[in-house]
Amino acid sequence: MADFDYICIGGGSGGIASANRAAKHGKKVALIEARHIGGTCVNVGCVPKKAMWFGAQVAEAINHYAPDYGFDVTVNKFDWKKLVDSREAYIKRIHASYDRVLGNNDITVINGFARFVNKNTVEVDGKEYTADHILIATGGRPVTPSIPGAELGIDSDGFFELTEQPKRVVVVGAGYIAVELAGVLHSLGSETHLVVRKHAPLRSFDTMLSQTLVEIMEQDGPTLHTHRNPEKLEKNEDGSLTLTFECGEKIEADCVIWAIGRAPANDNIGLDKAGVTVNERGYIAVDKYQNTNVDGIYAVGDNIGKVELTPVAVKAGRLLSERLFNGQKDAHMDYTLIPTVVFSHPAIGTMGLTELEAEAEFGKDNVKVYNSSFAAMYTAVTSHRQMTRMKLICVGEEQKVVGLHGIGYGMDEILQGFGVAMKMGATKADFDACVAIHPTSAEEFVTLN
Ligand code: FAD
Ligand code: NDP
Repeated sequence: MADFDYICIGGGSGGIASANRAAKHGKKVALIEARHIGGTCVNVGCVPKKAMWFGAQVAEAINHYAPDYGFDVTVNKFDWKKLVDSREAYIKRIHASYDRVLGNNDITVINGFARFVNKNTVEVDGKEYTADHILIATGGRPVTPSIPGAELGIDSDGFFELTEQPKRVVVVGAGYIAVELAGVLHSLGSETHLVVRKHAPLRSFDTMLSQTLVEIMEQDGPTLHTHRNPEKLEKNEDGSLTLTFECGEKIEADCVIWAIGRAPANDNIGLDKAGVTVNERGYIAVDKYQNTNVDGIYAVGDNIGKVELTPVAVKAGRLLSERLFNGQKDAHMDYTLIPTVVFSHPAIGTMGLTELEAEAEFGKDNVKVYNSSFAAMYTAVTSHRQMTRMKLICVGEEQKVVGLHGIGYGMDEILQGFGVAMKMGATKADFDACVAIHPTSAEEFVTLN
């Protein structure tokens, strides 16, 4: 039996960050990972997704914009496998870098699936490890629908295993993953159908974002099918698939991707042996300090069902180690005002309240909304113009900025700095006091009237 000060179960965004920070404070740390170091983000999430998105950006530059910028380009072929190989080689380098840092911090990395034996002990492949402090950072996994033939489709993990480009794809779902994967596949040349069960994708985002995305998709994106509920998926004689909807309509495709949400990976790790409770949706219940109901056991990241983003898991993991091992008694994650980007085509950046949320919270009369709509200059120079739309939501007499939303070229890189301003409590006057950078899209946020 090996004893540690701190055991982190899960070598993903939250587990690695917390383990490294604890080790920096001189603690003896073990990190247990069942699959690949880096977790979802590095292996089947943010990183490979962004690599594919960059590939799609290159395709758009060549197909839509190069001609009017004077380039007479002939593309011999697009090699999906080459893009996947470049992506995976990059991920290998990230693995090596993680291994180096964990090694430099003297963290014991244990490969295998951990289960609780009791509140201080976990077991991996028959060996037991103990610690006074144990972090559960096991993340989540994709869910698939309970309909006949669902197993014939793949999920986002399966998407990253594709070594050949599917010619015809159906992506089912309405959240980040559905929108991102459908956009990538469409831009890279697959015939792509995005199927949502309600009226639009990204319904919980500010309506301006969702509506603009739909508008741009209609002009130049995957074919959107609304109000469609999958009923069954069947394999045809030629190996293709037919997806049938409850309304009786069918779509034939070579690949169906389920992107209908994720569930916490907490169900088979022996939480009952440690006495840790989960909420009605299966997420681990924690307080604001990431404490579970059991003393000495904590949880961060996707398995607590708060905000499922890598930087959130990382920050929560680090702050937890600061509190436990560096005397910062009140250190805890602030889950409010978190900036986030959807890597759609074009990208969406959003932070704070939607217009409807602001009106519900502060009253319509106390909310002032500023809008801007223009063709991003990168596209406006060409015949392939694409809209950019931005919105600022301000409240009260001082016009504090409580919501900032944008969709358009470059939005993915624009948001972060404005996030700092909003986190500091900036008002519309503070935004306006900053001199614009011209000519950019970002300058619109400081010149709105
Ligand atoms: P994970 O990163 O999932 O790590 C959990 C780890 O625990 C896994 O490696 C798993 O193998 C391991 N594990 C589970 N159970 C055990 C066990 N019992 N024993 C040992 N190991 C175990 N977020 C962003 O911020 N930006 C993005 O662009 C973005 N894109 C995404 C794209 C996709 C397709 C997906 C699926 C997610 C994306 N996310 C993105 C979300 C982001 O990946 C997650 O929020 C983040 O990885 C959560 O970190 P975590 O530490 O909670 O869990
Ligand atoms: P989401 O929760 O974002 O979206 C899933 C959506 O699918 C639901 O909101 C729902 O939308 C729809 N849906 C649910 N069930 C069904 C069903 N049975 N049939 C059809 N549609 C259904 O989940 P994702 O898996 O897309 O992403 C999980 C999380 O990972 C995200 O919330 C985000 O936090 C993170 N992520 C972040 C990214 C980034 O930062 N860029 C990228 C990818 C993931 P509706 O109710 O409208 O039908």
